[in-house]
Amino acid sequence: MARKRTKVGFVGLGLMGAPMAASLLKAGFPLQVWNRTPEKAEALASEGAVRASTPAAAARGADFVVVMVADDAALDSVIFGEEGLSRGMKRGAILVNCSTTSPGLGFRAATALRSLSVRYLEAPVMRSVPAAREGKLQLLVGGSRDDFAKARPVLDALAGDIHYVGEIGKATALKLSLNVLVATLMQAFTEFFVLARKSGVPFETMMEVLHAGPLDCQMFRYAEQAVVNPGGRPSFHLKHVLKDANLALEAARQMDVPVPITSAVRQLLVAARNLGHGDEDFAALLDVMAAWAGVPVRG
Ligand code: NAP
Repeated sequence: MARKRTKVGFVGLGLMGAPMAASLLKAGFPLQVWNRTPEKAEALASEGAVRASTPAAAARGADFVVVMVADDAALDSVIFGEEGLSRGMKRGAILVNCSTTSPGLGFRAATALRSLSVRYLEAPVMRSVPAAREGKLQLLVGGSRDDFAKARPVLDALAGDIHYVGEIGKATALKLSLNVLVATLMQAFTEFFVLARKSGVPFETMMEVLHAGPLDCQMFRYAEQAVVNPGGRPSFHLKHVLKDANLALEAARQMDVPVPITSAVRQLLVAARNLGHGDEDFAALLDVMAAWAGVPVRG
């Protein structure tokens, strides 16, 4: 695929979308971008992206449109809204949904777009903002193998590793299952932390032993950063982790799968969101648990 001749639309320039769009520009794809809050497109425009006034305009003439928005309400609106993508995408184009949204909306979008001869791939992502900046995300892809093969050059510009999971719905199911681990591991870290902290173990010793032993993992290193670098910008909003817990619990309910730990962690995420931590990184669970335990997070 000649990149210069492959036009790409990009919708949703939040924490993840903006660096993903920048990776596509860097890879040489002509890019048309749209974001609900238009100011967030300014930096990309100065690097050569064309700013579109509506999602439909971002899709016009594009061979691929990548979508990275918050949730179901956002995806529904950017696809089916008055000036949505369904009004602008050309026949044969492929919509790649990288957002974490419900399997039900994915099926509905795929069906509706098929009637317009537009193809749909789901490609939810693992890893966070630093990997998005480096074009090293992990992508889980669901949809037809043929569409996956066509979209591969675009996906390659975003990801360090790409996994074809199966038909539409399967990649989303795997993503939601993985995010159960993300949420529960963070909560497990907070309980480890407050117990050791209240017992008087120095933080440096906790981390030294954790990282040297069999329980070391990237998730715990991410959580550690929230203690060491409290002013760091959020990577993964707590409100989105709660949204994913809700999606996972709904999938579990539909299939009669007991997920008691995820249920409990959802309660804590709801409490943390209601206490005003929704727009912070989900490591803010640490603040809630430390307050409950009566220990400071730092110092
Ligand atoms: P974010 O920073 O909150 O950005 C959300 C984006 O969605 C923004 O562009 C926002 O537009 C847009 N949006 C929200 N509601 C909308 C609506 N009603 N209509 C149109 N646009 C709307 O979120 P993010 O961290 O980039 O995450 C994006 C998706 O990736 C989420 O589904 C998240 O769960 C998933 N994800 C995130 C991470 C991570 O580490 N951050 C990792 C894996 C997956 P405005 O700018 O106007 O608000």
